[in-house]
Amino acid sequence: MHDRQRNSRELLASAGGSPQRPMVVPSASVIEGRAARSPCPHCGPDFEARVLEHTRPAPRLRRVDIACRQCSLPRTLWFTIAAPELN
Ligand SMILES: [Zn+2]
Repeated sequence: MHDRQRNSRELLASAGGSPQRPMVVPSASVIEGRAARSPCPHCGPDFEARVLEHTRPAPRLRRVDIACRQCSLPRTLWFTIAAPELN
């Protein structure tokens, strides 16, 4: 459990925190799920986040504004989609 918590925090620090270093996902459909499971810096990984807004500022770049369900801390996560979407 502690190892998983540390890994989650390292993942959060390494990717997704800025548009220059977005988290790479295989498709847009997984973005909100990953954003919701992103651990809160205050509360840790035991509380899910609420997705407030999901926007597309560039063709392959997604911005997701979230807030922790426990403490309401707002955060912004950035994602990029690894492969073109098939609609
Ligand atoms: Zn929180």
